[in-house]
Parts: sequence; structure tokens; C-alpha cells
Amino acid sequence: MKIASNCVATINYQLKDDAGAVVDSSDDGGPIVMLVGAEDIIPGLEKALLGQEAGAKVSVSVPPEEAYGARNDELVDKVPRENFPGIDNIEAGMMFQTQMEDGQAMVVTIVEADEVFVTVDGNHPMAGKTLHFDLEVVDVRAATEEEIAHGHVHAGDSCGHDH
Ligand code: ZN
Repeated sequence: MKIASNCVATINYQLKDDAGAVVDSSDDGGPIVMLVGAEDIIPGLEKALLGQEAGAKVSVSVPPEEAYGARNDELVDKVPRENFPGIDNIEAGMMFQTQMEDGQAMVVTIVEADEVFVTVDGNHPMAGKTLHFDLEVVDVRAATEEEIAHGHVHAGDSCGHDH
């Protein structure tokens, strides 16, 4: 069957940056198992997969506006080192989950740190980047009524969702 809304698709992938370096791959974390139409994945990727069948291989370059959006420089902030109590080594590239003033969780990446200040970047690491995917459709099946009602995949969910 072809990939369409309310299907569960299993996808092997390799993600490369503009320089052609592999930054992520299903060889590391296993295939993507997604409920099509539930916004499990970035819009540009879902668009490229619609209508494909098991065995299909697709290469697609997804621009930032169909991936993780443009970078927002206002999300880069310099905060006091004391905001990170109990953490001895803060280094560029580390990621932390923080709470915004409105209570929302946000993941920040450390840009640089010294004894007094830490510069954090709240942008998604892939923001502003064009993502180059090599995709292979491993399996396509109809979603169950329950999966559609819940809006997520049950069996074989890579996130370990099971009920
Ligand atoms: Zn569920």
C-alpha cells in the first residue's frame, strides 16, 4: 500500500548536512515508525514520503521552513553561571532542559561558558539548516482505530509507547 494519512510507515533514513556529512541515521537509533498525518515528523519529510510504497528509496532536501524553522537570534542568551548549580563542567555543545518563565520546557545548547557567564542557545540544533535525507520505506500498514484515536503508533513505537 501507498503511504497516506492514517498509515503507519517504517522508514530507514540517513540525514546529511550541506557538506554531505552524516549527522543522524537509522543505523544508530533504529528506523522512524510514524503515524502519517499526526505530525510525528517534519512537514517536508512527510510530504516527500506520501504516495511511496515499501521498498521505495527517496532522496529529498528539506529547507528550514519545512524542517525546524529559521534560527532566532533572540533565543541566544547569556546567563549567570550560578543558574547551573551542581554542574561542575559546562562545555560548549552540552544540552540542558530548562523551564521558561511561562513554565514551558525548552532545550538549550551551551554555546560557551566561563566562570561567570554561560551563553545558551534555545534554537533547535537543526534550525536554519537544510536537511538532506536518504530514505528507504521499509513497511507501510494501515493504522488501527486506536492508533488514529490516540494520534500515535502503538506496536513497535521507537519511543517505547505501549498500551
Ligand atoms: Zn496510545
